[in-house]
Amino acid sequence: MIISRRIVLHFPKRLADRPIVYRLIKDYDLEFNILKASITPEEEGLMVLELNGEQEDYDKGIRYLIETGVEIQSLSQDVFCSEERCTHCGACITICPTGAFELDPVTRYVSFHNEKCVACGLCLKACPPRAMEVRL
Ligand code: SF4
Ligand code: SF4
Repeated sequence: MIISRRIVLHFPKRLADRPIVYRLIKDYDLEFNILKASITPEEEGLMVLELNGEQEDYDKGIRYLIETGVEIQSLSQDVFCSEERCTHCGACITICPTGAFELDPVTRYVSFHNEKCVACGLCLKACPPRAMEVRL
């Protein structure tokens, strides 16, 4: 059965120059689409990937990533924004790797688009009033 999954990979600094995604594709026969790639201030690599392939290959590929030391963000979490706490400061907009926040140019209100969220958790730390929450 062919499956398609969106995952967030955190690469520690020591893995920065390793061809990990290349191996994932070549050795595990997966197709990929890079939705976002960036480097955090701590020089950790962050990549949002869409992976497509057979379930068995996908599972093996994920196991390879974990064994290599790549941290994979669980996507079984539901992130939401507390309307009461959000001050629309905009700190989350540049942090979010998938562009899940949108600033209204007129009202300056920040809206959260849950359907774009991949539950990487970056906005939880970045939000000053702790308006972003995660439900397990
Ligand atoms: S960082 Fe927090 S308070 Fe600021 S706009 Fe984003 S969700 Fe709202
Ligand atoms: S957890 Fe926050 S930063 Fe990460 S994708 Fe979702 S909204 Fe964006």
